[in-house]
Amino acid sequence: VKIGVDAGGTLIKLAYTYNQGESISFKTFPALQPEEVVKWIQAFDDEAEIGITGGKASLLQSMLGRPSLGMVEFEATCNGVRYLLRQSGVTEEAHILTNVGTGTSIHYFDQSGQKRLGGTGVGGGTLMGLSQVLTGITDYHELIQLAAAGDRDRIDLKVKHIYQGAEPPIPGDLTASNFGRVFALAATDTLSKEELLASVVGLVGETVATASVLAATPYDSASIIFVGSSFIQNDLLKEVVEGYTRLRGATPLFIENGEYSGAIGALLSL
Ligand code: ATP
Ligand code: MG
Repeated sequence: VKIGVDAGGTLIKLAYTYNQGESISFKTFPALQPEEVVKWIQAFDDEAEIGITGGKASLLQSMLGRPSLGMVEFEATCNGVRYLLRQSGVTEEAHILTNVGTGTSIHYFDQSGQKRLGGTGVGGGTLMGLSQVLTGITDYHELIQLAAAGDRDRIDLKVKHIYQGAEPPIPGDLTASNFGRVFALAATDTLSKEELLASVVGLVGETVATASVLAATPYDSASIIFVGSSFIQNDLLKEVVEGYTRLRGATPLFIENGEYSGAIGALLSL
């Protein structure tokens, strides 16, 4: 067996295959339980080849106590994305890639390599942390479900709200200020968890999309590819990112199993 591991700040992703050319299987563990990953890998015999990437790669390598190949995270992610693009028949060669993990990292890549353009600390970790502070909820699936039922209208200030009745110089549907409408609420108004969580998703999605579009500006790139576990079962975040990216004149692309791109890259390096 060959196992590629992407040990991130929140989740440890695994991509593995029993025979060259056979389909790849996937598995995810919480980063807080690296010993579970070690146990899972130890169940294979010594023939198992292991490639590891991600911020917690060294930690995991030292816990594993058997040889493994380390790989630079950004290279692994881009190689994994290249593989997934080939699988899905996408033929353009140059792309902007945005990885919305715990934090957000933005890259340019083509056939010859990748270059990190920047990033933002607003990412999936922000979604988790801010949501917890605002609502007390810590369970990811509970959070995203409630968010999907929320309405941002009382919380977020749009450009058209400011330009009441007048023609704004930029699209009225752009958010002028995330959470910028809260000040106008009456003291007796209370915001529901759903509204708060929808607005947190809005804040994260719009920040990620805006940073990506700005980073992409100097590149004549066909599309911006969004990956990372922050999109798992989170259609609302996808919708926000997709809508906002299009509103800013770029084309968003989500790829199946994109959250495993780092693990796939680590696997392919073996
Ligand atoms: P980084 O690359 O920044 O080191 P990472 O690789 O661990 O972090 P991802 O796994 O891509 O990051 O994404 C983590 C985010 O995915 C979380 O912050 C959360 O928003 C979301 N997420 C999806 N599923 C879960 C889950 N089961 N538990 C916790 N968070 C989850
Ligand atoms: Mg990651």
